[in-house]
Amino acid sequence: MANEPIPRLRTDLEVQPSDDGTVDVRDPHLLQVFTIPVEDYELAQNFDGKRTADELHAQLKSADRGTSRHRIQQVAEELQDIFLLDTAEAWRQEPVVENTAPWPQISSTNRKLRVLPVAQSDARWACHACGACCHGLAVEITEEEEDRIDPSLYRDILGDRHFAVDAFIDPDQPAVRVLRQRPDENEACVFLMDDGLCAVHARQGMEAKPDACQIFPHVVLQVPGQKPRLTLRLNCETMHETFEAGPQVQGDATSVMRILETSPSHEVPPTTRFFGKELPFAEVDAKLDRLYALLYEGGLTAENLARIDRLLFRGRVGRARARYGARMLDYIDEEDQSPVPVEGGGYSAQVRRLRRGKEAFRAMRDDRPVPRVPPRVEKFFVGQIRNALYGCGPWSLPDAGFASVALMLALEAMIHAVGPKGRLKTANTAFIVMSGPILEMTAHAWPVLEAIDPRHARWLRLREEI
Ligand code: SF4
Repeated sequence: MANEPIPRLRTDLEVQPSDDGTVDVRDPHLLQVFTIPVEDYELAQNFDGKRTADELHAQLKSADRGTSRHRIQQVAEELQDIFLLDTAEAWRQEPVVENTAPWPQISSTNRKLRVLPVAQSDARWACHACGACCHGLAVEITEEEEDRIDPSLYRDILGDRHFAVDAFIDPDQPAVRVLRQRPDENEACVFLMDDGLCAVHARQGMEAKPDACQIFPHVVLQVPGQKPRLTLRLNCETMHETFEAGPQVQGDATSVMRILETSPSHEVPPTTRFFGKELPFAEVDAKLDRLYALLYEGGLTAENLARIDRLLFRGRVGRARARYGARMLDYIDEEDQSPVPVEGGGYSAQVRRLRRGKEAFRAMRDDRPVPRVPPRVEKFFVGQIRNALYGCGPWSLPDAGFASVALMLALEAMIHAVGPKGRLKTANTAFIVMSGPILEMTAHAWPVLEAIDPRHARWLRLREEI
């Protein structure tokens, strides 16, 4: 490239400037998002496909915009390596489908509820205002939600900056409007105060907060042939503190109903893809009810898990176990070397939250039987699996059958991560981390699906590429 004309930047790229001296660049063709220094991006805007680095250096020098010839060369090579320059090679590349989440079978709906949603009778949860949910999760806001918040009340927090920005959340989606986060504080929301409380809630009241913040972790699901379900997202960091004696979730139904006046709920389609077949919702729901019953009755022993695998999954969990462990270990290592999807950061960062995270995947790779966890940890895991099934967790992926096998593999991994003496807090983190690729961070589902059934994963990729 030394003496060749430097290709220009591709014209299909989308760019979002940040106020930290960088710009985010979304590549809609290859489904990638990069953060690059603003001066490199500005320099690259001079690339025109005609001038060499020497010629560009001479021109910029004469315009007193001294940039070394070496720097021009370096930036050109870096951007060419990540296919942001307009070259035939860039257009020959296949989209990096792994950067996007496989499509869910659940969709959001503005269809209003006519009756109160129903929670499971023994589902219990309460907020501990730990502020953990105000870190890392991007809070997408509508214009109406943005107008609710009066920036003049937060000058001490915001200074002269606005509280919302346009950001790329999914590499396959244009930028969306989100609450600003503090990158140097573990992606804390700009409104999160030192005491773990929300400044908007404190200064303007609960109803001024974005709906996503008001309703978290509640979820309302409209399911075929039944009353709407009130359930929980399972990534709250303190669920282990209230699952036994906390307030019943049903008690939140009325306030959740109020929030749904201005925001969508979710709906499950009448038929569900289950191991490649389209089955009526009720039939799949019954299968998952049976899964929960077998877990509840037989407990989390290696024998009972093997029995469930035979009865419900034709041994798929057992056949995929070693591949799953090995693939997740590779995935974590690969991820540390390459760019990761924007939302939620990298999966390896999640696994590092568990002292025995990688060891759990090694145990799966080596096909080791699960240890027996303490009774309260077992009760917590079985309860969380029940919440996940009632919440149609397996519908978060394109095939609820393979997603259920993935959930069983994740269950074994979380048991290994906690071990025979593990504490409930560790169990909570293990559930969030190991179930993440199936329930919450589905952009990380690809290695799990590959381990379970490579043909299914290949079929999904082809569908995604279309
Ligand atoms: S607005 Fe408040 S509740 Fe919502 S993420 Fe920010 S700090 Fe948390």
